[in-house]
Amino acid sequence: PIESWYIGGPVIKGFGRGSKVLGIPTANLSAEGFSTILSEHPSGEPWLLHDFAEDFYGEDLHLVIVGYIRPEANFSSLESLIAKIHEDRRIAERALDLPLYSTYRDDPYLKSCV
Ligand code: ADP
Ligand code: MG
Repeated sequence: PIESWYIGGPVIKGFGRGSKVLGIPTANLSAEGFSTILSEHPSGEPWLLHDFAEDFYGEDLHLVIVGYIRPEANFSSLESLIAKIHEDRRIAERALDLPLYSTYRDDPYLKSCV
């Protein structure tokens, strides 16, 4: 078993700063759902690695955080930021296939949204 954090809550509207334009939509979570476990400036904006036909603002979203990829960074261009996020995606997908992490796919918390 690894250290993991369970966070969830309704998907809220963000600033709409063009994430979709970049091809990287992030489902913003209300910090109320996890302010007790991530205490300093909590924010959660997962890019779900799945294609959805429609937006799902207001829906209840449950996540399990199972790993850490890299610290925050500044980028000299939008292109380098996008490239890094795609690299993050490949790292996450590869890691999530490892038995250590893939067991979390069946975690009841992920299937218990109301
Ligand atoms: P906002 O600033 O409101 O968060 P985004 O440009 O980040 O706007 O888009 C996020 C929204 O897009 C989500 O709230 C969700 O409704 C929708 N969405 C569609 N597909 C995805 C996805 N694969 N991952 C995350 N959000 C998605
Ligand atoms: Mg967003």
